[in-house]
Amino acid sequence: MAEEKSFHMAPDEFRRRGHEMVDWIADYHARIESFPVLSQVEPGQMRNALPATPPQQGESFEAIMADVEKIILPGVTHWQSPNFFAFFPSNGSGPGMLGDMLSSGFDVQGMLWATSPACTELETHVLDWVVGMLGLPDKFLSSRTGGGVIQDTASSASLCALLAARERATNFSTNQQGCNGKLIAYTSSQAHSSIEKAAQIAGIGRDNLRLIDVDENFAMRSHALAQQIEKDRRAGLVPCFVCATVGTTSSNAIDPVVEIGRICLQNNIWLHVDAAMSGTAALCPEFRHIHNGLEFADSYCFNPHKWMFTNFDCDCFYVADRNALIRTLSVVPEYLRNKATETGAVIDYRDWQIPLGRRFRSLKLWFVIRHYGAEGLQYHIRQHVALAQEFAQWVRENPCFELAAPAPLNLVCFRFQGADEANQKIMDRLNRSGDLYLTHTKLNNRLTLRFCVGQTNTKRQHVERAWRRIQEEATKLESEKPQES
Ligand code: PLP
Repeated sequence: MAEEKSFHMAPDEFRRRGHEMVDWIADYHARIESFPVLSQVEPGQMRNALPATPPQQGESFEAIMADVEKIILPGVTHWQSPNFFAFFPSNGSGPGMLGDMLSSGFDVQGMLWATSPACTELETHVLDWVVGMLGLPDKFLSSRTGGGVIQDTASSASLCALLAARERATNFSTNQQGCNGKLIAYTSSQAHSSIEKAAQIAGIGRDNLRLIDVDENFAMRSHALAQQIEKDRRAGLVPCFVCATVGTTSSNAIDPVVEIGRICLQNNIWLHVDAAMSGTAALCPEFRHIHNGLEFADSYCFNPHKWMFTNFDCDCFYVADRNALIRTLSVVPEYLRNKATETGAVIDYRDWQIPLGRRFRSLKLWFVIRHYGAEGLQYHIRQHVALAQEFAQWVRENPCFELAAPAPLNLVCFRFQGADEANQKIMDRLNRSGDLYLTHTKLNNRLTLRFCVGQTNTKRQHVERAWRRIQEEATKLESEKPQES
């Protein structure tokens, strides 16, 4: 019989191309420092280089990879460069990439336990491990009242937390009837924008999200929170949700979770703690104090995809009462009914998140944890913190620069002692040079440079070079000033 026509990649070709791809990626990482960290393309340049229409006939793998080099690479900002100090990192690692590759290889869709038991059970198990690794409260364990789930991002985790808080505060009636405009959520003026977005999506409304004032260290003023809650109650409103941040995006400020937690407890308000980047620090016992007060939290999230060497995307989201979350998000159509669910003995993670479908994300986290062990992870986190602290000390010692905020972990906020425009110019020139990438924020209304040490391969030499380059650009800028006669 004649062989059936097929356009699929033959298994042997897949094997060969797979090996080539791993080689390509390994070479990319080996030469990553030869590229400008921040992509230097102009808007539209990439699209202009791509054909206007898709190919009618399939193309060779060589042709595709040639365009990766020619068109794609110049448009890539190299987040995995050791000279990446911008935003917060989104770091990865060999074991993380390989775990992710395996997840693509299985390509299962783990919406229900029954649709791939390993996808669910590994996730539950690894997230229980992480409770112990970070020293989180036992209530977040799946063997207690709570449990953990992997979300794509902290934004999704915080949205789920807010939805569950909304339902709990309204005796689970809002899903049915919609919001009545009386529910109030609270976070600090320094919280991540994802909380504002969550308030929009959850129907709380931006007007009903109170942005609580911060102290001189950019941490939430718990007294101001208590006052605002009291004021809202007196006005007949219903406070339902507080989000505290452990490591704000702008300055790495740590909200006083103990005090905030007590206020939430007294007022029966859901407390969510967003530790998107900084939570990873708690792998090291000496940094675990950042989680003081978590015993009061109803939910908590952090992103191994930021600082724990686990490729994007991977957010660990924990709840103290899984029933509240499941009751909030569960909808059971006939076509998803199955015996395992009906026994009540399994977790169906579709009820713990917004989408139905889900990838096998726990594989990469499992690979990372098994490869590094707690010891390896702690080692590298300590290195990053030590390097950032050294950088902060160099800033303190140079009279041309100043620290703009405390640097509790691996983020240093600083300024050249000059106007905002000067700082902007220094940053733009550094980023245009391609030597490193750093970004800014505004603190006390002044432009502030942020230097975050968290990329997997960042070593002392990269931090030293970055500081040298920053000083060089500052000196150059000074020398360009018109001389007074
Ligand atoms: N929360 C904090 C404190 C963050 O720093 C960030 C991102 O930097 C986020 C939330 C949003 O993260 P994600 O991209 O995972 O939604």
